[in-house]
Amino acid sequence: MRLVLLGPPGAGKGTQAIRIAQWLQIPHVSTGDLLREHVERGSRLGVRARAYMDRGEYVPDDVVVRMVMDRLEEPDAQKGFILDGFPRTVPQAQALEDALADAGRPLEAVLKFTIDDDMAIKRLSNRWLCPCCKRTYNMEFMRPQDGSSCDDDGCQLTRRSDDDEITVRRRLDVYRLETEPLELFYWERGLLREVDAQARLDLVTERTKEALSDIAS
Ligand SMILES: [Zn+2]
Repeated sequence: MRLVLLGPPGAGKGTQAIRIAQWLQIPHVSTGDLLREHVERGSRLGVRARAYMDRGEYVPDDVVVRMVMDRLEEPDAQKGFILDGFPRTVPQAQALEDALADAGRPLEAVLKFTIDDDMAIKRLSNRWLCPCCKRTYNMEFMRPQDGSSCDDDGCQLTRRSDDDEITVRRRLDVYRLETEPLELFYWERGLLREVDAQARLDLVTERTKEALSDIAS
């Protein structure tokens, strides 16, 4: 299965991505992680990316597409992949489509997790972060066992500073502005599948599996 995931902040996309990856036995490729990895490793693409990042500029699409395509050539991605965090724009989607077509591995579906703003804000403003391992918790949906420290390492959880309501609303607006043309792009290709993410995580996972049931093997 070759998949792209879309969804606003607070839709629980990251959690679902991990679950789908386990279910289908395919890697979850987060472009944010991929980029960090390349930069840390000092790969040729990482060095190129770093030069832009150091100037406070966006890493050009062709560099990111190259990283993604390299990653998808690895053995664990032969059965498929879940792309998360990319593409974000129509030009990126076009570049990805061309590269995947060249590789004979076109996308099979684009999952869009939907959630209304109020729910997203409620989820995000309940979000706490472990400063040690970066694991996120949610006081409503995914509480730490003792209510205040990380289950894995016992570090005291901190609140994400950018999660206050005004900031969250702004992030949601930016997301919608960026993503609507992208959704249209995939809708026109018959790839877009919607999952109502306005539910507890387990139910959303069930809905996700259902949305893919006709193409999951
Ligand atoms: Zn931790």
